Amino acid sequence: MKIAFIASECDPFVKTGGLADVVSSLPKALKELGHEVIIILPLYNSIRRKNFKIEPFFDSMGVWMGAGIQEWCAVRKTVTQDKVPVFFIEYDHYFARDGLYCDNLNRDYADNAARFAFFSRAALQLLKDMDFRPDVVHAHDWQTAPVAAYIKRWEWGNSGIDKAAAVLTIHNIGYQGVYHADAYKYCGFGEWDFLPDIFEDHGRINFLKGGIHFADMVTTVSPTYAKETTTGGQSYGLAPYLNNKKDKYIGILNGVDYSAWDPANDKLIPVKFSYDKMEGKAVCRGMLKQKFRLDNSKDVPVLGIVSRFADQKGLDVFAGAVERILNGMAVQVAILGAGDTNLESYFGWLPSIMPGKAGSYIGYNNDIAHLIEAGSDFFIMPSRYEPCGLNQIYSLRYGTLPIVRNTGGLADTVVQYNEKTGDGTGFKFDYLSVDSIFDTVGWAVSTYFDRPEHLKKMRKTAMLQDFSWTKSAKEYEKIYKNISLHGKQK
Ligand code: ADP
Repeated sequence: MKIAFIASECDPFVKTGGLADVVSSLPKALKELGHEVIIILPLYNSIRRKNFKIEPFFDSMGVWMGAGIQEWCAVRKTVTQDKVPVFFIEYDHYFARDGLYCDNLNRDYADNAARFAFFSRAALQLLKDMDFRPDVVHAHDWQTAPVAAYIKRWEWGNSGIDKAAAVLTIHNIGYQGVYHADAYKYCGFGEWDFLPDIFEDHGRINFLKGGIHFADMVTTVSPTYAKETTTGGQSYGLAPYLNNKKDKYIGILNGVDYSAWDPANDKLIPVKFSYDKMEGKAVCRGMLKQKFRLDNSKDVPVLGIVSRFADQKGLDVFAGAVERILNGMAVQVAILGAGDTNLESYFGWLPSIMPGKAGSYIGYNNDIAHLIEAGSDFFIMPSRYEPCGLNQIYSLRYGTLPIVRNTGGLADTVVQYNEKTGDGTGFKFDYLSVDSIFDTVGWAVSTYFDRPEHLKKMRKTAMLQDFSWTKSAKEYEKIYKNISLHGKQK
């Protein structure tokens, strides 16, 4: 099959979260299954053109938008290490900015609706102009949700675009792309689609809702999150529209790219290790303690965090518990993250009041993320909601036992510790509160000191879990085949 991924992020070119990991590793896995896959991205300022050998492809490409406006952009191209072609829509007016979606003060760009409607339209224009003739166009999150609507609503001549099946994957329903209705005309959809069941949301445009309506198949990134988003509580208002899709909405667990995240071949950690050769993990822990200025004179386990500081992640509640944890237990914390300015200040300051017990790095740093995964004993994700979560899956492979709230993909990937048998791969709690976090970290720390044989067994079980893309890619392949054959809606 010919499959086009249209997305706003893709590792290693540009990444703010797990979406980028998926858009990089799923195409690779699909290619290995024998499909022809390409990726289309916006060319942001931050993408290093020379490093990635991004070359001119089309010097100019005209893209009609609504209200009779035509934009002129250019297209560039490179290939990934795995030989997947990647095309970039170059349009400085929209993408030559410091941020992807927000300015330096974390405010959405005022023209985001126009920016990503344009990108969605331009990506399809590229498929048409290069005569790609896709069987499936796979869009991701609100930024490219309009792709499905353009496929169904625009005139595509004999380019084959309107024959393509549209798949939309929701990586996080907390972000829907809700903007002022003024941009609707420019997007180029008809008034008849500005309805509460389609694009309209309390007088504003809701990109994700429109995309859900038009997509032939909507997926999300774990089975539990699919359930949570159709039963109300976690859907941010979209449960009715997802329920309308019936069996056209399913959860497929994300895989992870073990070529980048496996201690047995991780080039970014000081010493490699595996479940049957664990000495290297102790060295990594020593390096981690050194880097984060943690006291290394006694055997004290380390609790790691690598996260965006966003409301979703529950770290505000962890912040309420961490001083009590560090005062009351023999454990240390190593925190890497950025985002919410209050949390940045708090976690940035914590080491000064807890010297030797807490270390933090405020910012984005992939090397340190790998060191934390490798050197920590436990990894905490107290998320309010978590569509899939990648870090806990990485943690499992590094023998770093996850402590997680029992929600979304965390529920699907971590198996609760059984204190009688030593079975399980981590520690789960249901209710998000300071007390639950304190108690569950306490449970993990007491297991470390009092039941070391269980800890060893859990580590081995965790490291042998397999969440590679092979299985999930086959599930995507199945739905692609289904909808491109007979599931396409008119
Ligand atoms: P989300 O997509 O909600 O941010 P995931 O767990 O699915 O959460 O994916 C997060 C990805 O981003 C992981 O690959 C993680 O290592 C990375 N990451 C998050 N914050 C940082 C950071 N401050 N520095 C380096 N990597 C980070």
